[in-house]
Amino acid sequence: MTTEPYLAPGLAAPRPARDGLDEPYWTGTREHRLRVQRCRDCDTYQWGPEWMCHNCQSFAIGWVEVDGRGRIYSWQRPHHPVHPALSDQGPYIVVLVELPEAGDIRMVGNLLGDPLQEVRIGAEVEAVFEDHDDDEPPYTLVQWQLVSPPA
Ligand SMILES: [Zn+2]
Repeated sequence: MTTEPYLAPGLAAPRPARDGLDEPYWTGTREHRLRVQRCRDCDTYQWGPEWMCHNCQSFAIGWVEVDGRGRIYSWQRPHHPVHPALSDQGPYIVVLVELPEAGDIRMVGNLLGDPLQEVRIGAEVEAVFEDHDDDEPPYTLVQWQLVSPPA
């Protein structure tokens, strides 16, 4: 699923690290696939990208696709813009999403929908891919939406 950009234009575009560390993540999001790291030696998931496993110190880090289903671990509703490009944005919602399928690793994104909506810890969310095709190079952000939006 593709969506309109959640935040106002003008923010710095994310760029893959020059050393290639997070390249599988960014190529995955362009294909609307969510990839995270998983150790090939001990099967531990981890996020964000690192060269070494946090659990067993192995360098045999692989990438696996996950289904993009998670639950809200924490959240915040900034009312004061943290960047000049967001000066007319009004409040928006930042969520920390936990992925039970992947060892409860946590990812940061925005919660789509009404920026004044009630947010519940533990609510089920799913990844939504936000394409920025007109940027050079193009990129895709991962945002989150409630699986069962309030009626
Ligand atoms: Zn490991």
